[in-house]
Amino acid sequence: MDDVKKITNLISSPSKEDLQLIARAFEFSKKAHEGQKRLSGEPYFNHLCETAKILANLRMSPITISAGLLHDTIENGVTKEKEIKGNFGDEVLFLVQGATKLGKLKYRGVERHNESLRKLFVAVSQDIRVIIIKLADRLDNMKTLEYIPKEERERIAKETLEIYVPIAYRLGIRKLNRQLEDISFPFVYPKEYEKTKSLLKQKRKEDYQKLDKFQKSIRKALAKNGITTFVLDYRIKTFYSLYNKLLRKDWNIEKIHDISALRIILSDVDDCYKVMGIIHGIWRPLPGRIKDYIAFPKPNGYQALHTTIFTGYGNVVEIQIKTKKMHQEAEYGIASHVAYKEKNNKSKISSSFEWIKKLLPFKNFFDEKSFNKEINHEDIPSWIKELVEYQSSERKNTEFAENLKKDFFQERIFVFTPKGDVIDLPIESSPVDFAYAIHSEIGNSIGGAKVNGKMVSLNSRLKNGDIIEIIVNKKNKPSQKWLEYAKTATAKKHIRSMLQNQNK
Ligand code: MN
Repeated sequence: MDDVKKITNLISSPSKEDLQLIARAFEFSKKAHEGQKRLSGEPYFNHLCETAKILANLRMSPITISAGLLHDTIENGVTKEKEIKGNFGDEVLFLVQGATKLGKLKYRGVERHNESLRKLFVAVSQDIRVIIIKLADRLDNMKTLEYIPKEERERIAKETLEIYVPIAYRLGIRKLNRQLEDISFPFVYPKEYEKTKSLLKQKRKEDYQKLDKFQKSIRKALAKNGITTFVLDYRIKTFYSLYNKLLRKDWNIEKIHDISALRIILSDVDDCYKVMGIIHGIWRPLPGRIKDYIAFPKPNGYQALHTTIFTGYGNVVEIQIKTKKMHQEAEYGIASHVAYKEKNNKSKISSSFEWIKKLLPFKNFFDEKSFNKEINHEDIPSWIKELVEYQSSERKNTEFAENLKKDFFQERIFVFTPKGDVIDLPIESSPVDFAYAIHSEIGNSIGGAKVNGKMVSLNSRLKNGDIIEIIVNKKNKPSQKWLEYAKTATAKKHIRSMLQNQNK
């Protein structure tokens, strides 16, 4: 375990500087965490190595991998920010700080607010690489979940399934998204997990044997037709994705046709169509299951040819045919773009909002024609729409956009209602701003305010993560003093108009 090579071996053609950077981060982190243990009893440093390995597997840059090795040093209090800065520079520090900030957010278990929490997560991270580090961190932490007390365990698993998984999914990082799902599933839905498992158990062994026989026939058929350069693999559907499908098919496993799937990866698009032809010439396809996602990509950009065929062994198998590039996109999604960009633009801190575009369901999102025609606006989460508005205003007026960016990301705090709603406000906001942000009626009848369960004065300043409860008193009226307490334009506007009415 204790070997930096286990990380660097995963990187393709690293430079000497790359290797040195990772080796320094490795030694630094190892020393910093010396003596700390995980709940499982193993050295804490193992967690950092595992996180770095996941990042290397996602083909992240040496800078991101180093930040992965160091991501818990500030949070665990074993080192100071200025040490990271002095030893590794601004960019690594920026990523470690981002991961530390995100570590402080906690899921509060009210389902309808998940979208707010995802928004908060993305907004706080500021950089796509910070999110990827946190996803890798979470994946490794999930592997030691059994050592955590039961209640906390359920909270973490639920948070993973409802916050981290959808973010990984939207970023197109299937590789992480599937692992996170399957690792959380038994903790969040134990009964459903058992039911899915027993349904699949009957099928599984049999299916593997058939798949193995079948893949040999496919290889033979391709070779006979002159297709020699390809990668072929096969899988049985994972538990959580099978469970989701079972929910849609009334728990009838016979109605699910892609439990067994076989993937053929080729070097170009021509070969994809050729292989589809060869297969249909030998095996009979299931009607209605032939999909050309190369000519018509899925809304998330996914491309491949799909067909489901009768194998002749009494079962059906879905075959996915794609190019290497399509496969990369499908497995690594945004991670592959980041990796590419980083390689070509090494030292720049990415502060642009380009990556937010990648969260969008359509590549040509900014093309108005396709925006109106193809997209069901209801499908787009509101926070993504908001970010798109920031993004498009950036193109029109840079100064305005600069202010907005500042306003939205740096000058904002995120606080919660007692039910878990996230409300974002400018920094230095008071309970008065909070009340008006919820509703003008509530603002107009503030009787008092509690922050984290304690009564506070109306001019107190709110902090990130505070839970605020407004005590409503219908007899109360806004006073002149409230104008001084308020920071937001909305609150000031309402207070002024109420004061004017009172004077009349
Ligand atoms: Mn960690």
